[in-house]
Amino acid sequence: MPPAAEPPVAKDVDWSDFRDHLATADKEGHRKWIYPKKVAGRFFKARTILSWALLAVMFGGPFVRIGGNPLLLLNIVERRFVILGHIFWPQDMIIFAIALLIFITGIIVFTAAFGRLWCGWVCPQTVLMEMVFRKIEYAIEGDAHEQRALAAAPWTGGKIARKAFKQAVFLGLSFVIGNTLLSYIIGPEQLFKIVTDNPVNHLQGLTFMLLFTLIFYGIFARFREQACTFICPYGRFQSTLLDENTIVVAYDHKRGEKRGTLRRKDSAEQRAAAGFGDCIDCVQCVSVCPTGIDIRNGTQMECVHCTACIDACDAVMAKINRPRGLIRYASLDGIERGERLRLTPRLAGYAFLLVVLISVFLFMVITRADVEANLLRAPGALFQQMPDGRYSNLYTVKVVNKTSREMPVQFRLENASGSLQVMGDDVVVPPQKLSETSVLIELDPSSLLPGVTPVTVGVYCGGKRIQTLHTSFIGPRLAASASPKL
Ligand code: SF4
Ligand code: SF4
Repeated sequence: MPPAAEPPVAKDVDWSDFRDHLATADKEGHRKWIYPKKVAGRFFKARTILSWALLAVMFGGPFVRIGGNPLLLLNIVERRFVILGHIFWPQDMIIFAIALLIFITGIIVFTAAFGRLWCGWVCPQTVLMEMVFRKIEYAIEGDAHEQRALAAAPWTGGKIARKAFKQAVFLGLSFVIGNTLLSYIIGPEQLFKIVTDNPVNHLQGLTFMLLFTLIFYGIFARFREQACTFICPYGRFQSTLLDENTIVVAYDHKRGEKRGTLRRKDSAEQRAAAGFGDCIDCVQCVSVCPTGIDIRNGTQMECVHCTACIDACDAVMAKINRPRGLIRYASLDGIERGERLRLTPRLAGYAFLLVVLISVFLFMVITRADVEANLLRAPGALFQQMPDGRYSNLYTVKVVNKTSREMPVQFRLENASGSLQVMGDDVVVPPQKLSETSVLIELDPSSLLPGVTPVTVGVYCGGKRIQTLHTSFIGPRLAASASPKL
């Protein structure tokens, strides 16, 4: 008989192995606060310029109007959505679903090709954290070593004042960000009303205002990089999307290893002869990393591709007269075999899917009707015979106006001999609103089929048919042989 298998034994954490522990937790599992050093360099400059543009769009977006409509409005509560000035209703959910698919496919294609480029350059979390909150922190508390010293210092009046001032600024900024998000949901006009009106009338709005403020304050003042490493699903599934051709922020281990400190007396040739690479183990790349990782360990889930380590290492290379790019944007194959980015079948498949989805999306947006109506028989109403011998059915018609102008709408009976009468005033649908009215359809007995008669109603606006509605008309059961064809 084979010997019984040993019960599995939990292995001790190997603290020398980066895979065995988080960079942001100590041996007791407590949070290790990250103090990334200030960074400067060409990537940081480019990201700063881009972040200005993104912040302008982010904070200015709610006030931008296209054709009288907001640039972006995602009113989930009232199920009203405006994207790039186009109003979308719940009836347009299919367009939304395709837009969402495009977004997801776009991210997949992008990630497969360029890793987490999104995270490092345009993700609002990174932009706000690194380009706004981090810079404020540097301005108030100084660079990383000063922040560390301040954290370790006793609680004096000066320290309390600086810390309190920083938190107050963070809270104020979180309030602005929270309100910006709220104005993307309810619109700036509604937000203004909440702020200026009697608070008792807007308890729900004020609650959300407070909630958003506290959430953003919590994220940017305390939670920080953990939002990317613990919460963000994108960071979690990126490892399934990357392959050896993906461009990532990578350490060129072939060029850098064996790493070793630089001794002044050693020339580059002597270092090379001793088997050393270009990495002088100065850990500048680690000290600027906002997620606290060492990129020399290879691609890691925590890396948000912020490029800080590239800039830091380039500065070191410049100082020691070595070419920059020891850490750079490169693929694994690029580093191992000197290959350039190539179109793999997987990438081509994703890209094709993306093109198809974008085409379908554009087609649906372009052919989307400005007005959408639906016609239903009034519940519980049966047919009636009129004094002139015709039969009538009562219907309810709902018309959604997706434009920002009034739409006068008429209805015409298209396929049967009879009449259609709108009950009440003419239908004029206000902009971005839904109107509901009743219509009475009367058919000649000669038009009726046995049981149910299909009826077609044209919806007209400005003399042009904009939609054709189909419904059924209930009449008396006539003998099949006696019923004429429509
Ligand atoms: S900054 Fe460059 S040289 Fe310094 S440790 Fe990092 S990779 Fe090595
Ligand atoms: S490893 Fe480099 S690119 Fe990745 S998060 Fe750290 S500093 Fe940014």
